[in-house]
Amino acid sequence: MLIAVCTATGLLGTSLAGPAPAMAIGPLPACRYDDILTQPRAYSQWARTLVDTILSVPKDYVPPDLTSVGQAGLAGSFQVRAVMIPDLTNLAAAAKAAGNPIGVQSAYRSYVSQQAVFAYWVSISGYRLARLYSARPGHSEHQLGLAIDFKTADGGTPWTGTDWGDSPAGSWLRAHAWQYGFIQSYPKGKQSVTCYSYESWHFRYVGRAEAALIHASGVTLREYLWAHFTTAEVPPPTAATPSPGPSAAPSASPSEPPTEAPTLEPSPAEPTPTATGADPTEPPASAPPSAPAGVWLGLDATSAALVAALAVAIVMLVLSVTLSRRSRRAR
Ligand SMILES: [Zn+2]
Repeated sequence: MLIAVCTATGLLGTSLAGPAPAMAIGPLPACRYDDILTQPRAYSQWARTLVDTILSVPKDYVPPDLTSVGQAGLAGSFQVRAVMIPDLTNLAAAAKAAGNPIGVQSAYRSYVSQQAVFAYWVSISGYRLARLYSARPGHSEHQLGLAIDFKTADGGTPWTGTDWGDSPAGSWLRAHAWQYGFIQSYPKGKQSVTCYSYESWHFRYVGRAEAALIHASGVTLREYLWAHFTTAEVPPPTAATPSPGPSAAPSASPSEPPTEAPTLEPSPAEPTPTATGADPTEPPASAPPSAPAGVWLGLDATSAALVAALAVAIVMLVLSVTLSRRSRRAR
């Protein structure tokens, strides 16, 4: 009954102002790829809207109050929702006062621009790998107008070089962003629940109240929003994985600036083929098909050793018999 009420409430959408928090329908879904419309997703319910690798917003989801980050005293022509401007202003001022001024690398992206971004990364590293660090169109927090990829003011792209999270600005942001309503969506070591590789620069605005609760809870944004607000029904996974649609085709022009970075975190479910010792911030090359280490002619190490020993034994036996016969003939 509760589930039915919650679902009905969600379906009514924008006409209901401030519906009561609902319980999640079932446990947090395991990481997989699907295209299920998230719920709630009314523009007024921005703080409670969850998008991930399963849940999405429609193509025509365009926040009505987009405005320039210049309103918060930050450089660049990037757009964010006006609801975050007061907190973003204070965050930027506090970072500057602490000696760690921040800038914006990327902010709002439309469905169409996310198509281009995702296609670019698919062209670089292939569809399967790109999904780990770039959201498919409709699944990006950037389309909500609530996500910002930060960088050091006057600095380079945060995914170039060493872990930006260890830089003065990155460290400061990780420690203090929540006090201004921003949560790091994809923290280090949480890929198994966020379903994305670690992104030190990507923060989602949820407002100070929710951010404080999320920070205190110790769980990730995805876990928190799912458990407290998400009412979308996510059916059990089917055997078929959604195939890359036309939007995933690597059609972006080479000049398309990449706006998400491929810093990958090892996943037990999907090992990354990034070469050991390679610059971790370089776009990972597609893994050439090769036999896993320790495999020889389709045999594992133990079987191969047994076959080799048997072969040596046979050769020794043949030699022994041959020498024996020659020896007899010689007598
Ligand atoms: Zn981002």
